[in-house]
Amino acid sequence: MVADKPADSAKEAIDKLDVLNSTRTVVKNALEKLGYPDEVFELLKEPIRMMTVRMPVRMDDGSIKVFTGYRAQHNDAVGPTKGGVRFHPDVTEKEVKALSIWMSLKAGIMDLPYGGGKGGIICDPREMSFRELEGISRGYVRAISQIVGPNKDIPAPDVFTNSQIMAWMMDEYSRIDEFNNPGFITGKPIVLGGSHGRETATAKGVTICIDEAARKKGIDVKGARVVVQGFGNAGSFLAKFLHDAGAKVVGISDAYGGLHDSEGLDIDYLLDRRDSFGTVTKLFNNTISNQDLLELDCDILVPAAVENQIREENAHKIKASIVVEAANGPTTLDATRILSERGILLVPDVLASAGGVTVSYFEWVQNNQGYYWEEEEIQEKLKKIMVKAFNNIYNTAETRRVDMRLAAYMVGVRKMAEAARFRGWV
Ligand code: GLU
Repeated sequence: MVADKPADSAKEAIDKLDVLNSTRTVVKNALEKLGYPDEVFELLKEPIRMMTVRMPVRMDDGSIKVFTGYRAQHNDAVGPTKGGVRFHPDVTEKEVKALSIWMSLKAGIMDLPYGGGKGGIICDPREMSFRELEGISRGYVRAISQIVGPNKDIPAPDVFTNSQIMAWMMDEYSRIDEFNNPGFITGKPIVLGGSHGRETATAKGVTICIDEAARKKGIDVKGARVVVQGFGNAGSFLAKFLHDAGAKVVGISDAYGGLHDSEGLDIDYLLDRRDSFGTVTKLFNNTISNQDLLELDCDILVPAAVENQIREENAHKIKASIVVEAANGPTTLDATRILSERGILLVPDVLASAGGVTVSYFEWVQNNQGYYWEEEEIQEKLKKIMVKAFNNIYNTAETRRVDMRLAAYMVGVRKMAEAARFRGWV
């Protein structure tokens, strides 16, 4: 996924928003609705473990650069913690903590035997060579090796990390452990124990949510006008799947701007021209801003880029009747309220983007059993889990009269709170 570069005023507004605080607010509301006492919130408002590491890497020019990274483990009452590692210049400790809580919620929603974890390294992989990236990947694994492992905490790809980086990390961990240990990490290349369907899993999960949401709203995906913000792993595959399903993708964007055509964009051409970081709009002159893109006339809007894109200032200008969050945290709490009051069906991130961790779970199961499944089996299993999770949350929202985000948090937090109680922690 690509880092967004919003205009200065929008950037200032975004910087003021605190994703950790807003996540905690919804966790607190969800626990209250479920009738859990305050001490459960006290336990779940922070990761149980947070490690800060410093990694020296020899750069191509011979100098040594020391990078800072984090690994947060939110809660392991249900099982080992699980979640991606992002490489990005804007990584912060707070963001990694919030992301680890979201991973716990995703695992709860998809009923996976995990708690949430997340990692991040402050670096810009767009400006680093292959060799430097290998150095930082191996250095990170050495630094966190004591707290991770196939039954402790299982990393995976996230923003600007991919199967090659997972391969280096797996190799480094296997060296430390002195045996081949594919279950330590997911999102690996197929030849190293990766799973079919992992690369496209997040986008596949989003398409399943779009199908379900469209059914509820009486919209036919075939012919529907869709806008996708972000052309990274999730956004690009998603645009392709929707285009192939007969939807009209009328807008896409990357970090540098957006493209719009009310007749539908040539997605295959754009995919062909995109670079490995999901950049394509630099090749065009007639671009629009990412903020304008969100307000385009369309039926389905998919923010698949970065956090805090739909805020109080622009939520009333959104024209879509369905918003499906493929990115983590693209909509603020104020904006969630506004969209819900306006009758827009919002499919929250912790549900819509959970396809990735679900297929990661399949990968880990296959590694543990040493027996590998065909692509069709993966897709069938993913669809079954995703449809069930969507309907569970939709029905919770209806019966408890809450918005879809709060419903998702209620579903996501329940198993973890129950497990912590059974263990006698709270
Ligand atoms: N980084 C992805 C996420 O945020 C996937 C995590 C995983 O596969 O464990 O959901």
